[in-house]
Amino acid sequence: MNKIQNQQIRLASRPIGEPTPANWNKTIEDIPALEDGDVLVKVEYISLDPAMRGWMNAARSYIRPVEIGEVMRAGGCGKVIDSKNEKFVVGDYVTGSPGVQSYWLIKGGKGALKVNTSIAPPTTWLGALGMVGMTAYFGLFDVCAPKPTDVVVVSGGAGAVGSLVGQMAKIHGCTVVGIAGGEEKTTLMRETFGFDGVVDYKKGNLRTQLRTACPEGIDVYFDNVGGEILDTCLSMLRLKARIAICGAISAYNATDMVGPKNYLSLLVNRARMEGFVVFDYAPRYSEAVTQMAQWIHEGKLKTIETVVEGNIDSFHETFMQLFRGENVGKLMLHVRE
Ligand code: NAP
Repeated sequence: MNKIQNQQIRLASRPIGEPTPANWNKTIEDIPALEDGDVLVKVEYISLDPAMRGWMNAARSYIRPVEIGEVMRAGGCGKVIDSKNEKFVVGDYVTGSPGVQSYWLIKGGKGALKVNTSIAPPTTWLGALGMVGMTAYFGLFDVCAPKPTDVVVVSGGAGAVGSLVGQMAKIHGCTVVGIAGGEEKTTLMRETFGFDGVVDYKKGNLRTQLRTACPEGIDVYFDNVGGEILDTCLSMLRLKARIAICGAISAYNATDMVGPKNYLSLLVNRARMEGFVVFDYAPRYSEAVTQMAQWIHEGKLKTIETVVEGNIDSFHETFMQLFRGENVGKLMLHVRE
């Protein structure tokens, strides 16, 4: 087992604006022999998440930055191919944060979570039953506390988190309006996810489209994108509205951060806007997994994934699809040798 070569993508420099391939370099190294407690995993799927762009910056955040020279941090899922740990056997599927590399040597078996592939396939454990699913569930039910009578607007509505937020708000009885870019995505939101209204922000007239979709205003806005969309939603709040700041992908590559202009709407409408980080909910993940797995099983919650076939070298190109809006649902890279 110790002759396997591991291909790794390491951070080479910090990007200014959009990342380029030059921000990473590739290394190849032998995998050392396993010690007692170690587990070796062949990484099959690498999760591409907008947050990875933030982890490339040196700035202080909710998690330490990826250091120059370090393997690029990334979620992922793979199969155990060797184990000196009684908790893991060859053939088990595990998720965690392997990083962008083809093999994951888990020292002492720490940081890996065994997943039950009889409940859902490995990709679902990276998507709806993984970090993005937990984000959608707790961001919606905890931070936004929706009532069945609420009008819920979600941006990034055809993406990994947004598609789940909108569908769970529908299950809860809410009226749901999804915002996304392009006709394929508005059709998906309306016909597959069953959203009541859809807005194509790339068509322009954002405010008019939103007014048409929610003439009475907005009770809950789940924000995945920030920028002009957040500002427009702020201007349409109803009394006691709630906004969850989940992310702001429109600003992740910006070199100059612009804040929302319409924040005084929070005052006028006695509304609140609250940021959250999914990792804070880790002690409660099993609650969300149980509920969401049941909804998936019942056909009430649809899981959409964009799985790009490639290898470790496909990382940069696949990652950038997030910022070009080329994914629907959860974006991941299937690592083939
Ligand atoms: P995603 O929505 O599956 O993918 C990103 C999507 O963002 C793209 O498909 C694109 O869709 C949209 N987008 C890209 N550039 C945009 C722009 N300039 N303006 C508007 N939309 C743009 O990604 P995700 O994994 O579900 O993440 C969604 C958000 O949740 C991100 O902001 C992420 O950072 C955040 N997040 C937060 C937490 C937390 O703990 N707070 C955890 C996970 C994720 P269109 O084609 O519609 O433009």
